[in-house]
Amino acid sequence: MKPKLAFFDFTGCEGCELEVLNFETELVELLKQVDIVNFREAITEKGEDYEIAFIDGGITSESEIPRIEGIRKQAKILVAMGACASLGGVNCLKNFRPMEESLKIVCGDTACDYTWYYDTIPARPVKAVVPVEYELPGCPMNRYEFLRLVKSLLLGKRFELPNYPVCVECKLAGNVCAFDRGEICLGPVTRAGCNAICISNGRRCWGCRGLVDDPNTDSEKEILQKHGLTVGDILRQFRIFNSYLEVSK
Ligand code: SF4
Ligand code: SF4
Ligand code: SF4
Repeated sequence: MKPKLAFFDFTGCEGCELEVLNFETELVELLKQVDIVNFREAITEKGEDYEIAFIDGGITSESEIPRIEGIRKQAKILVAMGACASLGGVNCLKNFRPMEESLKIVCGDTACDYTWYYDTIPARPVKAVVPVEYELPGCPMNRYEFLRLVKSLLLGKRFELPNYPVCVECKLAGNVCAFDRGEICLGPVTRAGCNAICISNGRRCWGCRGLVDDPNTDSEKEILQKHGLTVGDILRQFRIFNSYLEVSK
């Protein structure tokens, strides 16, 4: 009997599910080991008999709560995929202003015409509603990390996220530091695992994989001071993906 996997989307852009589909050749190999019984982006079947559920997107409406509770009840293992599901992600930016104001910004004066106007609640990650066994951070999640998790589950092995900052991968990739290009980078306090993809492509780190455990904020402060920046400058940037941490304190 192959383990049954199911994928569900909540509030998000569904880019994390797309990452799974982007595998192409690896997906064919994966399908030899598991059965995918529910995956709206890919198949029409809607099987309710699954052991491992992957959640894409965060919880931002009242009606999503019983739905995630039902999935939790069925799944032996629940995995939050991506920043929206694991950290709250960009959805949580709406929590910083009255809900009516957010709705007006998005929908203009027609906001009241939408049924979800009455359904919306402050955004939160999945673990704020039901227990979660594993999280795959990132916007989108790293599909190779997804594959590593699935392999670990199939083999009954431990799965752990890297617990060192993006700077380590960035230095190994031989990048010029974004601070030396006059930009603010969140790499010193952000969990690695993305191979510093943004910096290697000429950008900087926005912290989409969340804080590394015990972040070395002193070292980040030192770097900031060296470049004439303050902790406030960096916190404003960190808010993009990690504001749930801030509002839930
Ligand atoms: S984490 Fe990013 S890619 Fe994934 S659903 Fe959210 S916004 Fe989309
Ligand atoms: S601060 Fe950013 S650009 Fe500089 S080394 Fe760290 S991750 Fe790389
Ligand atoms: S470099 Fe930073 S923003 Fe880019 S994927 Fe990695 S953690 Fe996310």
